[in-house]
Amino acid sequence: MTRDSYSIGVDLGGTNLRVAAYKPDAGIMETKQLPTRVQAGPDAVVADMCSGILQLRDKYSASAALRGIAIGSPGPLELPEGRMRNPPNFPGFDGLELRAAVGAGLGLAVVVENDANLAAYAECIVGKGKKLGLSSLVMLTLGTGVGSGIILDGKIWDGMNGMAGEIGHNTIYADGELCSCGNHGCLEVLASATAVRRQALKMIASGKAPGLAALQKSNLEFMPREIAELATAGDADARKIFADVGTTLGIGLAAAVNALNLSLYVVGGGLINAWPLFAPTLFEELRHRSYVYRLTDPERSVEDGGSPSKTQVVPAELGSDAGLLGACLLAYSSAN
Ligand SMILES: [Zn+2]
Repeated sequence: MTRDSYSIGVDLGGTNLRVAAYKPDAGIMETKQLPTRVQAGPDAVVADMCSGILQLRDKYSASAALRGIAIGSPGPLELPEGRMRNPPNFPGFDGLELRAAVGAGLGLAVVVENDANLAAYAECIVGKGKKLGLSSLVMLTLGTGVGSGIILDGKIWDGMNGMAGEIGHNTIYADGELCSCGNHGCLEVLASATAVRRQALKMIASGKAPGLAALQKSNLEFMPREIAELATAGDADARKIFADVGTTLGIGLAAAVNALNLSLYVVGGGLINAWPLFAPTLFEELRHRSYVYRLTDPERSVEDGGSPSKTQVVPAELGSDAGLLGACLLAYSSAN
């Protein structure tokens, strides 16, 4: 009888550190979540990570073989070393050799990967890719920033040293707002959840957005979800914010479609509930800016001069666990 096997995945977030045990037939079996002690420094965070991993290993190794451990970390990151390079939410972590530090703490080999790449990987292996029978995709995650990952033939495309797939930092408007990466007008400063809130605050400050001003009055900490509710109820200013998000996503995706000519582009993250609000301008812009998309538009038939091959741009299948699940899946497949 062959012994059952499982993997351990870690999601290192700016706020929470999550460690999970996974089996293909059961999915994520257990998740340990604790606050990420960023202020306490790299040694404390590495120690917390090792402790969480060892607790799950001690529990599950009694009945199954551990196939691998993978850690999802925010970028920028150099791979395969897992060297953190000035991650914006982790001051003092620049240069941390995550793979070596956790590996030494555990006495076990670990794999490190970019968290947005892992979300894309999960979406490919068990999410939209699986559902549509496709093994290549680009995924954009609209959250605090705009994360993105490229999966080619079922494998994460890391590029030369782990920095591939930074579509969120492609320029949309040459003279746009300053991004944390140092560039101006990145997709990230226009289409993230953070950008939606910032845009709403700007419109409120102009004194010409009464609906948004009333929202702020009733709830100072209003989130993109409340702005989306206002837009759905018909508020023109709130609608304009999401229409603009769609336009910028359309421009960003047009570049990806022209460069890669894949069948599948998945959009996920916290803003995805607003898909009906931003999708119309997204597709309008994508059709305008990408002839590759126009020729492969699912709504254009072959009789009308379209191609039988179609480019699908769709909302993600998985929720906020995608990155953690991707770490578990990578750990399971890498069998380190
Ligand atoms: Zn940027």
